[in-house]
Amino acid sequence: MNRRHFLTACLAPCVAAAQEGPPREERVESLTAGPTPRIALNHLGFLPDAAKRIVVRAAGAGAPREFLVRDIGSSRFGWGGEPPVPRELTRPLAPFACDFGPALAGEFTELKRTAMYQASIPGERSVPFFIRPDLWLRTLAKAVSYIHAQRCGAEVPGVHPVCHLDDARRRDTGEHRDVVGGWHDAGDLRKWMSATMSNGFALLELLDSGLEAPGIDPAGLADEFRWGNQYFLKMQDADGLVFHDTAGGVNGDNSDNHWTDNKIGTADDRHINPSKPGFIQALFIALEATAARVLEKRDKAYAARCLQAARRCWAASRPGGDTGDLAFWTRAALALYRATREESYARDAARLAGQLAGLAYSDFPGSQKLVRGFWRSSAADPAPYVNAVYSAYPAIALLEMAAALPRHADAARWRDTVRLYLDGYVLPMTARNAYAIVPYGLFFGSPTPEHYRPLEGELTYRYFMPVRKQFWWLGMTSHLEGHAVLLGLAARQFSEARYRELAFRQLEWVMGANPFGACLMTGEGMRNPYPHSRYVGLLIGGIMNGIAGNTRDEPVLDTEYGYDWRTTEYWSPHNAHYIWAVTVLETAARKA
Ligand SMILES: [Zn+2]
Repeated sequence: MNRRHFLTACLAPCVAAAQEGPPREERVESLTAGPTPRIALNHLGFLPDAAKRIVVRAAGAGAPREFLVRDIGSSRFGWGGEPPVPRELTRPLAPFACDFGPALAGEFTELKRTAMYQASIPGERSVPFFIRPDLWLRTLAKAVSYIHAQRCGAEVPGVHPVCHLDDARRRDTGEHRDVVGGWHDAGDLRKWMSATMSNGFALLELLDSGLEAPGIDPAGLADEFRWGNQYFLKMQDADGLVFHDTAGGVNGDNSDNHWTDNKIGTADDRHINPSKPGFIQALFIALEATAARVLEKRDKAYAARCLQAARRCWAASRPGGDTGDLAFWTRAALALYRATREESYARDAARLAGQLAGLAYSDFPGSQKLVRGFWRSSAADPAPYVNAVYSAYPAIALLEMAAALPRHADAARWRDTVRLYLDGYVLPMTARNAYAIVPYGLFFGSPTPEHYRPLEGELTYRYFMPVRKQFWWLGMTSHLEGHAVLLGLAARQFSEARYRELAFRQLEWVMGANPFGACLMTGEGMRNPYPHSRYVGLLIGGIMNGIAGNTRDEPVLDTEYGYDWRTTEYWSPHNAHYIWAVTVLETAARKA
């Protein structure tokens, strides 16, 4: 599959939604951040032992030189035994050469005491926030509840009555096939395999970690996984391969995005897209093999069924492809090895990982000496690899290989490739903005008629997707959270605290430390945009596509109730990556 097909397929929910009436470029161009709030910090707050950062958008003679952090709760607050001082702290603000405009940055890392705080500068107070040890853990139940609220084929009390018991008929033959179950994917009612399988991965990661979090119980996680997985298993055809989606819309339109009468054979029945692209197979194999391993102790028969499904799909598949595909296939083979301990799967995984590692730029391409270690798009396409959702997966796949097969002859190469991506690319690029977020990606020159930030030599970069490449583009939530997963895994594997810190920076942007001072999870933080969620409205814990860019690569976010799906639509990968990232970061902290 070529790259265009891959991107289009992965981002299909948004593509089809856009056809309902994309906002005009001029309107999106103007959705930039206003002059206030000037203070940006994570609305959740900070772990006691983490670096604590504040960014203030200001410059010049009138800019503040310092900020105040004050305990606005009780110094006792039921936490017990902690000293009641300091109640407040004044710290300096230093100018930061930030790509997003004049900014000041400050730190108050030494403040570790559990309490509720508020930061202020003259004329502005921040959102109240916590310093507390369960800061991230206490959000997990909300993020998981979002997945539950997206159940299809059942009543979800308070969200929607029982739905889509008539899913679905094949687009090609018209034949009915039972594919009831699964999860609605986004701000709509469709069931994309690629995106909703990410929910399955997240639930299994959390279950496998053994992490204890308020409101999370292992049996509930397993039950939720099985709700989604009944649908994934039903989507496997007799030849072992799985179909692309249900209700994605016939001919790329939005025609299947509707409630139905739940009666099979009537005019409103939705459709199965019977195409079977490779990356869907890779995701399915990885998911079912992981389920087999994680659920084995809980239900042997069910685990065996999942493993059988994975093996059948693998046997019918042809692993390989471009950089993105190779990351999926490496993870698929590795998951099969971890579930079975059969050496042939380890050999396949190592071969695929070797191909993947070979696509990283170990030299400095494009007449520059600033960055290296990032990926080519494919063996045939030297353009740097970019992806709005799966950008971190190539490095994640190699790290997982190194963790699972630490004594393999190629393990050092896998580790070195990831180190070069992080130290040669991620670290220098995140240093260019005060929020420390990872840009969307690098480019050779200016592939489309809009602004690409010059780096050096032929290389340019953008923080956000180009908006004149095609009509669909979206916010960077999953890209950033995916890098939080990668950085969390790397912090553990390489014992590097700075990776862990940088992981939190990516999540903090999503949770409020951004130029809009907007938290992108419904039910946490403040200034949440109203989500593009046209059927069920607000869902607690739902995470939005997030901040995108305009033609000048300035951050844009619809805070004006414009129903701009590009920035405010909920989407499964965002919740999945959030759960995965918090799981990785918290599990590492508790094992350390
Ligand atoms: Zn439904």
